[in-house]
Amino acid sequence: MIRAENLRHVYKGASGDKVALDGVTFSIGAGEFVAIIGTNGSGKSTLAKHFNALLLPTDGKIYIDGLDTAREENLWRIRENVGMVFQNPDSEIVAAIVEDDVAFGLENLGIEPAQIRQRVDLALDAVNMSDYKMFAPSKLSGGQKQRIAIAGVIAMRTRVIVFDEPTAMLDPMGRREILAMVKRLHAQGLTIIYITHFMDEAAAAQRVFVMEGGRIIRDGTPREIFTDVKEMRRLGLDVPAAAELAARLRRKGFKLPPQILTAEELAEALK
Ligand code: ADP
Ligand code: MG
Repeated sequence: MIRAENLRHVYKGASGDKVALDGVTFSIGAGEFVAIIGTNGSGKSTLAKHFNALLLPTDGKIYIDGLDTAREENLWRIRENVGMVFQNPDSEIVAAIVEDDVAFGLENLGIEPAQIRQRVDLALDAVNMSDYKMFAPSKLSGGQKQRIAIAGVIAMRTRVIVFDEPTAMLDPMGRREILAMVKRLHAQGLTIIYITHFMDEAAAAQRVFVMEGGRIIRDGTPREIFTDVKEMRRLGLDVPAAAELAARLRRKGFKLPPQILTAEELAEALK
């Protein structure tokens, strides 16, 4: 579904060039759920913007379903395939009524009104926001706004959704709702790229990329990545709460099996 080959991105500025992606190579299959973690400035958002050609490579290549993002004639098909959800829902909402907001992308594609209405209703239903169809988005909570933004992407029926820290501005309840929704979309067969600095969220993915200095320095399952607590700490990153607690208990002399990742596994081991 996605293939990057030695992808580089350099921002040119008055105060010099900034290398944000320093040669990344990977491929992501259709239907995969990949989390991307890394400290601030490691290049996560720059990479995200290459998935739907918001940015183009300075060097190297990225292909979406075989389509080279650098070729202008591919732009529409790439944007039809890849939806994006960003951190700040306020900056994504464009209309004064929820249903118009969800319909916005479809109207731009020139889809007929009956079809738009049907897709908007289904999308609002999918994010549990049908009751808010006629609301002003400004009256909604951050989590509800983010669900409206996600409904807008669902309505477009893209095969890939890229989330760039969608829960960063939400409370724990809003965060849980978004993560549950992301898991449902993955279960329905969508390819999910999920950037987060919440390690419990990243642990829900099938695969985790760790970025540092514009490179992908680790690529593995959550269990492979997060049970290496020392390495994660060296990188300045947290690990999920259960893995952290297991590491501390081991230091106190508890004999626990290696590779504990979830609260259930830790509870079982302690029992
Ligand atoms: P992350 O999302 O992991 O925090 P970014 O992709 O936003 O990282 O940024 C990677 C690097 O590129 C950082 O050093 C950042 O300061 C720089 N950068 C990001 N956007 C721009 C820009 N528009 N112009 C210049 N430098 C940028
Ligand atoms: Mg970012």
